[in-house]
Amino acid sequence: MDNREIISDNRPSRDRRLLVSSRSRARSAAADEPAVDETRAEIWVKCLGCKEIAFRKEVERNLNVCPKCGYHLRLTVEQRLAITVDRGSWRELFAALAIGDPLEFADSRPYPERLQAARRSSGRNDAVVTGIAKIEGRRAALAIMDFNFMGGSMGVVVGEKLARLIDHALTRRLPVIAFSSSGGARMQEGTLSLMQMAKVSAALARLRDARIAYLSVLCDPTTGGVAASFASLGDLNIAEPGAVIGFAGRRVIQQTTNQQLPEGFQTAEFLLRHGMLDAIVPRPRMRATLAQLMSMLAARRPHVGRAAKR
Ligand SMILES: [Zn+2]
Repeated sequence: MDNREIISDNRPSRDRRLLVSSRSRARSAAADEPAVDETRAEIWVKCLGCKEIAFRKEVERNLNVCPKCGYHLRLTVEQRLAITVDRGSWRELFAALAIGDPLEFADSRPYPERLQAARRSSGRNDAVVTGIAKIEGRRAALAIMDFNFMGGSMGVVVGEKLARLIDHALTRRLPVIAFSSSGGARMQEGTLSLMQMAKVSAALARLRDARIAYLSVLCDPTTGGVAASFASLGDLNIAEPGAVIGFAGRRVIQQTTNQQLPEGFQTAEFLLRHGMLDAIVPRPRMRATLAQLMSMLAARRPHVGRAAKR
């Protein structure tokens, strides 16, 4: 599907980007949580795994993995890039793609208002960042979803950026790596969001036909239409430890099926045991693992027999 009519170029001005400092970002995020001492909140972080309080700096130095229990805290897009790609190798693509309000959708707030708030706090136009980078010297096309941008929801722009990135990678024969972190499709864009599942899946099929590797990294959380489409379509599907992965929420499934769900249901570890994932890779080993997999899979060449039949 061609989305060119409903998406536009909307590059946030440099001035506005500079105005959104990390401090003001922290303040706007904390605005929803009453009576939190901002300074204290910035110095300390509470681990959701062992409930211990740790120095934020110490946790960040440890790749946002709790030094006490190994719990993987969520990463921002910037942190993900910093620990994954070779320094200075990142080149962002399609950053200017943006959407208006195609359905004139309003729930408790109009969609444009929600979008504007998310754009202001993130400094980007939508919930995925796409580009080219090197990982341990190997070039790859990367997509990193931003869970802080409207729950990492997939609307037209997310789908379009992914599809364009995959086609870009196809023409250059670059492997594609997608880091997913999403609540699913974006309800404010209705059916247009759901159509992205098919569009990105079709682009991945073209990549597969050309025998180019696609590695999917499922980060906490990967749910809904993202889990049900490109996040599960990797040549290898790799998750971070403890990531919540699933389609519908636990409560919805329990009410619909009227059954008790097993312990640890919808975690990466549960899915690995049941054959839904290929591996769980701890964050300190992720970069090296991706580089190793790329080098193993780069040996694949276009399937001559199949191409000849067409
Ligand atoms: Zn911990």
